[in-house]
Amino acid sequence: MNKTTSALKLILIISAVLLTAVFVYIGGFGDIAVFKDKNQKIIIDAGHGLPDGGAVASDGTIESDLNLAIAKQIFNLLDSAGFECIMIRDDQNSIYSEGNTIHAKKVSDIKNRVEIANKNNDAFIVSIHMNTFETPDVHGAQVFFKSGSEISKDIATEIQNVINLKYQPENTKVSKPIPSNVYLFSHIKNDSVLVECGFLTNSEDLTKLKDEQFQKDISKSIAEVIAYKLSGSENNVE
Ligand SMILES: [Zn+2]
Repeated sequence: MNKTTSALKLILIISAVLLTAVFVYIGGFGDIAVFKDKNQKIIIDAGHGLPDGGAVASDGTIESDLNLAIAKQIFNLLDSAGFECIMIRDDQNSIYSEGNTIHAKKVSDIKNRVEIANKNNDAFIVSIHMNTFETPDVHGAQVFFKSGSEISKDIATEIQNVINLKYQPENTKVSKPIPSNVYLFSHIKNDSVLVECGFLTNSEDLTKLKDEQFQKDISKSIAEVIAYKLSGSENNVE
């Protein structure tokens, strides 16, 4: 009896702690400016950029535009919260500096991104992308983290949890390490997370990802988790 009682008590305590943590994110922080005194540098990387639009949806929506829309909102939130923020690109174009073919421009672009990250190796990176799959049923956000980085894993896990709980209760995906063949992340040392916000090949995901309110909501959730985790929660959440 005692064993069962203690086990039950433990489960209740753990549930209460988890619910409190989830409540903070679900409820939001009200005003993200509570983090104002922090100087942590953050790079916001909107994936792709013309002439490389990334994935293309059946209605012609290009990934690079959606990436930029969400990255800009994350930038605005974290910037106004007092973090030192660097946008990799703030218009529809990628940041290539040489090359005559699309491929050569892509190579130049990714090398320039690596250079920015390496010049700011104390910066935390959040990279925004959209997913695709060969069958249309696969859906939901997938968050990745820089392999071997505890803070990256922690932040990616929280972002994944919040997105699942808040917007995609059916999404059972858990955060994963960024695959080693992703060029940018295998050439930098920064703590980083990569958020694949949803699947352009799934019609429900696509509708949501194009919706301005959803873009706003998911950006706020991503920014809040990053702000909360990089600030050290105790001193900042009131
Ligand atoms: Zn992409």
